[in-house]
Amino acid sequence: MSSAALPNSVLGDVLAEFPGLRSQIYFKNSLTALSHAMEDLVLSGAEDEQPIVVACFQKERFYRQEAKRYERIGRKSPHVFVLASPETDLIASPSNHEAIPFTPDDALANEWHLVILGDNYAACLICAERRETSETAATGKKSALTESPIESRTRRFEGIWTFDRKITCQSALILLERIIHYRPDLKERLTPLITAIPESVAKPFSHRDPEPFAQRLMTYLQTGQNKLTKAYQNIANKERRERLINSISSTIRQSLNPDEVLVIATKELSKALRVCRCLVYRCQVGDETTEIVHEALAANVPALAGNSWMLKDNPLFQAIAQDDVTAVAIADTACDERLLEPADNLAQQVAQQWNITSWLLVPVRYRDKFLGVIELHHCGSFTHTWSQDEVSLVEAVAVQLGGALLQAQAYADLENFSEQLEVLNQTRSNLIAITGHELRTPLSTIRVCLESLASEPDMAQELRQIMLETALDDADRMRYLVQDFLTLSRLESGRVPWNLEPLSVQECVDLALSGIYTRLDASVRPAIILKIPAHLSPIESDGEWLVEVLSKLLDNACKFTPNDGKIVVTAYEVDDNNLQITIADTGRGIEENQLEAVFDRFYQAEGSLRRTVGGTGLGLAICRQIMKGLGGRVWAESEGRECGSEFHLLVPIADEIIPAITSDSAPVSDSTVSLSREAIRAKYRKIVQST
Ligand code: ADP
Repeated sequence: MSSAALPNSVLGDVLAEFPGLRSQIYFKNSLTALSHAMEDLVLSGAEDEQPIVVACFQKERFYRQEAKRYERIGRKSPHVFVLASPETDLIASPSNHEAIPFTPDDALANEWHLVILGDNYAACLICAERRETSETAATGKKSALTESPIESRTRRFEGIWTFDRKITCQSALILLERIIHYRPDLKERLTPLITAIPESVAKPFSHRDPEPFAQRLMTYLQTGQNKLTKAYQNIANKERRERLINSISSTIRQSLNPDEVLVIATKELSKALRVCRCLVYRCQVGDETTEIVHEALAANVPALAGNSWMLKDNPLFQAIAQDDVTAVAIADTACDERLLEPADNLAQQVAQQWNITSWLLVPVRYRDKFLGVIELHHCGSFTHTWSQDEVSLVEAVAVQLGGALLQAQAYADLENFSEQLEVLNQTRSNLIAITGHELRTPLSTIRVCLESLASEPDMAQELRQIMLETALDDADRMRYLVQDFLTLSRLESGRVPWNLEPLSVQECVDLALSGIYTRLDASVRPAIILKIPAHLSPIESDGEWLVEVLSKLLDNACKFTPNDGKIVVTAYEVDDNNLQITIADTGRGIEENQLEAVFDRFYQAEGSLRRTVGGTGLGLAICRQIMKGLGGRVWAESEGRECGSEFHLLVPIADEIIPAITSDSAPVSDSTVSLSREAIRAKYRKIVQST
């Protein structure tokens, strides 16, 4: 196709030849119908008619749409010529008619022609596309690629259509000349035709019955109209669906409460699709059952809310739980094989029990996360075939619902986090206030004492001594407070390494007691009685920290028990895995509602300002953190005020017996006890020194 484009329009040439002709406007659909009716003249004509047929398609793809038809037309006559502007490769000429490609900038690219010239009939359609505004021009361009029936309807052409033999002959001549311009190789074949045409003008016009043509034309027009109506219907349905989805989605998204979102979705869907029952529930793929909470019902339909809905054994749920399944639609539960195979399956039982005749299940997902299901039921005696529109609507709502649910959940989580943060912040503020107070109190005392000592050199020796002792006591108190506070912070941060090893309970208790005995003389503390059986299993613990806990509990017991009272330490194996150590005293006891509070930081029954027995108020909080780290537990029991207290420790029993460290053949228990005692003692000394 090397020939230069011809700029003159065929329509212009024809109109120039026949100045009396007036062109008129045709919609594309009418031209299609007209062309088909004209082509049918050829197809239904006599075998020996052999008409000249010249068709000009603007673009190759329009020709491709009609290629089969032109194959048939080509079998009727050897003089069939098709012009089109090639879009991909050159149009290959089919076997039985000629295809003539022209350059896309030829005036033909904008024109639609069909000329049929036989002995018994002549007709021509010569039109050019009208591109009125830049907008329609743009539409025209776009329509060439993705032309819908509606878009195609808006395309308009201007030109002539006639049965006039003279005009048809002239049009044929003009078009055949164009063909020779583009396909000089056809010149030899076309020259006889061109020569014969003027004679054909003079041929007496044989009147064919116009009715078949009119009827064909009518049929094609109707078909076009029908296509158009369907396209409009589709658009209307699509619009309706989109409006519905939009209204449901915007209603759903108005709420950030997941439950409210489900209530709205249920209500709106059942209203939009007029179903008997609509259920929306949250669940996961592996769930056995779910409880129905959200449902919308038509009148007289039994409610399912409050019922447990079986999922695991329900083949329909299992079907929609598959990743690639977007819906399961059942028109008639009585004859759908998913309910019949295997017989009496759960879906069938459910359908019968709840009178479900038509069933639609759509999964609610967000990305790949399965969040729940939308179920629609029609109940009673009539069945309902779910249309593609209905299914797509529910699917679209499910997509919106998935997003809304996740968004609502994220918001709820955020609120939860924010509440937790608020609490944490409050705790932090309290802690700062309490710590500040706890530190300031002894500091003020020390300052007052030292100031008095400095400003009153004549102070009596006895008073001086008291001042000094008070200042030293409070300095000690501050030191303990800071130490305990640091220990607690370290424990709470989780940065403590736990060295678990098999230990003897007796050893640990002895070590804790040795500290008490050093600090408190027997005359200023209650009697301490040990009831620890000889052959207890070793425990699995960290000696340093367990001794710390025991020391603190024994310290407290001494502090809160009068000297004439007693403290009993017992231990026994609760079961194969745990051993319980109890430190019971006959002291002042703890109110029932304070049994947990005593483990809070700075808890002190008499309030921090009125402390009578010293202490930092952090001891039990530290014990709780240590026991947690050791895989055990600590808790308090008491019958109430003045009824004594019991502090219990639950400690894991060691799997293995305490290993002998020396190579001596001494009995395991003896060598272990002494070596273990030494080891723990060394470690304990380390703690005591470091604190
Ligand atoms: P501290 O003893 O330094 O005040 P703790 O955390 O060890 O701090 O104890 C917190 C509070 O628990 C004590 O102030 C006391 O009110 C109560 N408590 C602890 N042990 C006993 C006990 N054996 N008998 C009665 N009350 C106790």
